[in-house]
Amino acid sequence: MTHLLSDRFKNDGKPAIFLTATQRSAIRDFLKNEDCALESKRCVVCDGSAFDVISEKDRFGMPYPTGLCRSCGNIQQTAYYSDQTLGKLYSQYYRRILAPVSPDRLFTAQYLSKGPRVFDFSRDWVPQTGCVLEIGCGSGGILKYFSDRGFHVEGIDLDDEYMDAGRRSGLKLVRTSVDEFEPDHRFDLIIMSHVIEHLTDPRSVLTKVRLLLKDQGRLYVEVPSIHITGANFQYDFLRYLQNPHFIHFSNGSMRNILRRVGLNPIANNDFIQAVCSVCEPVTEITNVADAVRTELAAAEDHYLKNRNRIRITHAIQSLGNRVLARLGLNQVAKRALRSLGLRR
Ligand SMILES: [Zn+2]
Repeated sequence: MTHLLSDRFKNDGKPAIFLTATQRSAIRDFLKNEDCALESKRCVVCDGSAFDVISEKDRFGMPYPTGLCRSCGNIQQTAYYSDQTLGKLYSQYYRRILAPVSPDRLFTAQYLSKGPRVFDFSRDWVPQTGCVLEIGCGSGGILKYFSDRGFHVEGIDLDDEYMDAGRRSGLKLVRTSVDEFEPDHRFDLIIMSHVIEHLTDPRSVLTKVRLLLKDQGRLYVEVPSIHITGANFQYDFLRYLQNPHFIHFSNGSMRNILRRVGLNPIANNDFIQAVCSVCEPVTEITNVADAVRTELAAAEDHYLKNRNRIRITHAIQSLGNRVLARLGLNQVAKRALRSLGLRR
C-alpha cells in the first residue's frame, strides 16, 4: 500500500540534491544500460510482506520503493535489483554516482575520524591487545588506529584498490566475502561499520559473523540511522534515502534483527552505534512501526514548514563541501564539527 510521507516522495525522476555531470551521466547510463527491473522483497527482520510504501525514489531521483514493514516497523526497499544488477551497480557505477574519496584519502579519514569513534565506543568491552577483524574494511584506516594501540588486526573487503592503501601501512587485509572467510581463530572484536545497510540478506551474514566471535567476543555495528535525519539532514528524509542502501535502521529494528540471530546489543545510541555480545537467538520481535511512523511524520512536517530555509542551508553546505573536498579538508571539517557538537 502506498503511504508516502508527502507528495515530494513520488517517483518523478527529480533529484533532491545537486548532482555533478559525472553523477548525472552515471545514473542515466545505469538506468538505460542495465536490467533495472525490481524484484519484490520480504522484510529482512521479520519475513513479513506487508509494507506501507513511504517513498518511491531516492535522493538521486532513482526509482527506489522504500517501505515500512507493518509487522515489525523495519524500513527497507520493498523491491530491489537482482543480484546480477547489483553487482554491476557496485562494480561499474557506484563510484561515479556516490563520488567517494580516493583510497589514500579514505585511509586518512578512517584513521583520523572513524578510528577514534569506533575505538572510544568499543574499548571498554574488548581486552587490550585482543584480536580485531573488520568486515568491509575499505582502506583499513580504522584497523590501523587499533593496531597502533596494540591490537592484532585483520580486515576483509572485496576492493583490492582500496585495501592496497592499508597494505602499504603493513595491515593484513584479505580480499574475500564473509561467506568464504575461513580464519583459523576467532575474534575478540568484529567491526562492521556502514556495511549492514547494504546487505539484502543481513541475517545470514550476521549469523556467520556470530560464529567468528569468541564466546566473550563483541560485535561493533554502525549504520546510518533514521533518528539523525534532523541533525545531519535537517529533517529531510528524502536526502537520507540513497541507493544502494537497502535497509534504513531505527534503534528498534536494529535491536530486532541482532537479537534474532543471537547478538545482544549491550550498548547503543541513536547514531546508530552498537556493541553486541553473543546470546541465544530470540524469536520475539517488538513492533516499532507506530513509533517509527510518528517520528518520520514529525520530521517531514518540520521539513515542509521550514523548507525554504532548509534548502538555502543545504545549498550553502553543498557548496562548502565541494570546496573542502577539493582542498582535501572535508573529513577534517567533519571531525571539527563533531567535536563542537554541530554534527553527529
Ligand atoms: Zn518486518
